Amino acid sequence: YAPLAEVDPEVQSLIDKETWRQFSGLELIASENLTSLAAMQANGSILTNKYSEGLPGARYYGGNEHIDVLERLCQTRALKAFHLDPETWGVNVQPYSGSTANFATFTALISPQDRIMGLGLPDGGHLTHGYYTAKKKISASSIYFQSFPYALDPATQLIDYAELRKKAALFKPRLIICGASAYPRDWEYKTLREIADEHGAYLVCDMAHTSGLVAAQELNDPFEYCDVVTTTTHKTLRGPRAGLIFFNKKRPLSADIENRVNMAVFPACQGGPHNNTIAAIATSLLLAAQPEFKTYAKQVVANARALAHELVQHKYTLQTGGTDNHSILWDLRPLKLTGSKVEKICDMVHITINKNAVSGDASAQVPGGIRLGTSALTSRSMAEADIKQVAEFLHRAVQLSLELQKTAGSKLLKDFVRAAEASAEVKKLKEDV
Ligand code: PLP
Repeated sequence: YAPLAEVDPEVQSLIDKETWRQFSGLELIASENLTSLAAMQANGSILTNKYSEGLPGARYYGGNEHIDVLERLCQTRALKAFHLDPETWGVNVQPYSGSTANFATFTALISPQDRIMGLGLPDGGHLTHGYYTAKKKISASSIYFQSFPYALDPATQLIDYAELRKKAALFKPRLIICGASAYPRDWEYKTLREIADEHGAYLVCDMAHTSGLVAAQELNDPFEYCDVVTTTTHKTLRGPRAGLIFFNKKRPLSADIENRVNMAVFPACQGGPHNNTIAAIATSLLLAAQPEFKTYAKQVVANARALAHELVQHKYTLQTGGTDNHSILWDLRPLKLTGSKVEKICDMVHITINKNAVSGDASAQVPGGIRLGTSALTSRSMAEADIKQVAEFLHRAVQLSLELQKTAGSKLLKDFVRAAEASAEVKKLKEDV
């Protein structure tokens, strides 16, 4: 029972450094957030010791009397946080992550080689929505299912629902998945439902990025029209790293859905649930149902809008010109800068962002933009005035990248980045010896 710092100072030191990195820099990665101390305490608890394969009341191991209560509590809180009637909706709280939640959902609803349609990755969709390239099937969702992506309208950079309808008429999918990793606007679930119904297809929403905003009723409600809704728990929802699968027990395609989803999670795709994580999800869902969380979610959106506004004031180009949610896609191509260059410069000044493909990018390998998100900064109580300052820092980072590129062509920028990398290595060496 000796503490970590005593047993393993090496790991303790890495945790300390990462803690300092997270708190000394500006975190603008749209898929990240800062979870609560309470959730971290639950996540680091003794519950990690327990095996509990199965479901509450029907386990493959003894000693689960408290774990059963915990998992049921988490289920109840999940339904409450998303304003769902337990008569209509059920939830499985065991998925280890968003990716496994999505694969378990496909496993539950369709058969190998059935057809799925999701938003293409270069247009903001997630890997697990059927991603493949011309050369290779990348995601298991394209290896085990036939996948055909839908896309954005190049003119508006919004989902092209008319084109999706035409593609679906040709491809006849068994399942359509909506939701994205990089799409700053809201979704038209009613239209998606109509398209799915034209082919007797399931409609699944992966609301991973926006689930906190959905819980706070700041965005359209996917539960109104979808058969299944999946989410991660660690993005706008501000919980630990994990996934959830909600299933509607009353829709026309729902025969035996509860059993199918539960069996797909365990034993089809996973083993024993991570009870420490389930406890942390339960705590986070308790918090997400409080009025303070609604205030937080409103501020996340207000901050994203404020950031978009400031960047547009500086005459930068944003995909769709702004945002409805927590995220912004900044198109750097008009400046002739790549996302990876700006990401590196930002890293050097302790602003954490990520390079990202923007609509119409020639290559997903050299993304022409960056993705920004306001969830983590809002968790640190930042509001519009702070965000104005953050926009100014981003402006300076981009201007620095541009100046370096202009003065001596892109070679100087490369040298600058190389020098910075070398300096980071020197710093590391100094710390290591
Ligand atoms: N779905 C979407 C839309 C995502 O953006 C992500 C991750 O960023 C995932 C699923 C996968 O989640 P995880 O990393 O927990 O597997």
